[in-house]
Amino acid sequence: MPSEDLRKHAEDVLSLLGNDLKTPVNADDIKGQLERFLEYGVPLNQAKQTLLKKYGASASVSTQALEITKLTDLQPNLRSVKIIAQVVSINPKDITVKGEPRQIFSGILRDETGSVSFTSWHDIQVERGDVVEIGNAYTNEWQDAVQLNIGNKTQIEKRDKDALPKETFEPTKCSINKIHTGMGALDIEVCILELQKKDVEVNGESKTMFHGVFGDETGKIPFTAWHDFKLKEKETISLIGGYVKSWRGIPQISFDKDAKVKKVKKDGVSIDKIPERKLRMFEVEEQSGLYDVSVEGRVIEVQQGSGFILRCPECKRMLLEGECQIHGSVDGVADLRVRCVIDDGSGSVSAIFNREISEMVLGKTMDECKEMEPSALMDLMKDILFAKVFSLKGNTMRDRFGTRFIPHDVEKVEVDVKKDAEELISILSNGGI
Ligand SMILES: [Zn+2]
Repeated sequence: MPSEDLRKHAEDVLSLLGNDLKTPVNADDIKGQLERFLEYGVPLNQAKQTLLKKYGASASVSTQALEITKLTDLQPNLRSVKIIAQVVSINPKDITVKGEPRQIFSGILRDETGSVSFTSWHDIQVERGDVVEIGNAYTNEWQDAVQLNIGNKTQIEKRDKDALPKETFEPTKCSINKIHTGMGALDIEVCILELQKKDVEVNGESKTMFHGVFGDETGKIPFTAWHDFKLKEKETISLIGGYVKSWRGIPQISFDKDAKVKKVKKDGVSIDKIPERKLRMFEVEEQSGLYDVSVEGRVIEVQQGSGFILRCPECKRMLLEGECQIHGSVDGVADLRVRCVIDDGSGSVSAIFNREISEMVLGKTMDECKEMEPSALMDLMKDILFAKVFSLKGNTMRDRFGTRFIPHDVEKVEVDVKKDAEELISILSNGGI
């Protein structure tokens, strides 16, 4: 996109923010961030929406002005939502509400900007493939993703296919590093790195699903297939169709019998040929969730809640004075964790080390940590971690508290202090950074 157009969009964002700014920001900053989003294949509308959210505008500012909301612009907790979309899937589901059996309908809708899961509390008499205009629906958040709800006051009207632009029906050709939650149908070529078969129960019926990990030259992503495509590990396939869903905050590809899967004749990409996806913190912060990426940065804070803790055996929440906020007084399960903020100059994430990684980094077992005074343990953690550089590999997710990094692998990076200082001096003597 030409620079002056981007500038216009940046000014647009600023004017929508109005006096609602959480932190001061100027048009150049906004423009720079929009540029990066676009580089990563994030649709413009979604990029603008994300920045509006980041700098403080309430979701209503940007969505109420539009008569028809594009799916990519949907935010949780909106009322009176109007959309035009195609029904990608719809399935009845038997549930029990207050002891009464009820049938609800759930599925996926898409438009040219993305897709959204929906739930209807009654039979809306539409079929897969129908284009519908839905008025007076509402949204909420379900498993870290926006969900559209169709209630008694929601109006549904069938429309012609040309009510949506024709790119709605065309899959997006892309690589794994460009995939983000809420994307419409995909067109990708990937290697199957891991594959597992699993029998699950869906609505009282037993179903076989296949899940695993896809890879290409740009990264990895988990997938779930609801149909037996005779997938085999190490094979390269072309997949057309399928959707990107968020599962526990991390994007994954989900596809069923409607997807087109073709084996591609190619030497399989082996797991060790998939490059490590090394990202700067700002890139991590811009995505709602990432699978198997690596970052490097300096610990700038060891957070409260780090150390030896007890967890609820039912829900794994941390106990406060022996009580779970949901399950009350329970026998806690011992655990050790470290929560710290890691910064690389471009941004920061809050990393949560599990017991195994905490023990490795601290050089102490959980039982040894349990014996220590909490304040002495905190001091030890600060000594070992604070201002040190670490490289982390793992998954990220973003929630209302910010971006969290859950590493499966942590390594301390030995920094050459002298070389660091020399570099800094040479930058400074060349007239500033
Ligand atoms: Zn609990």
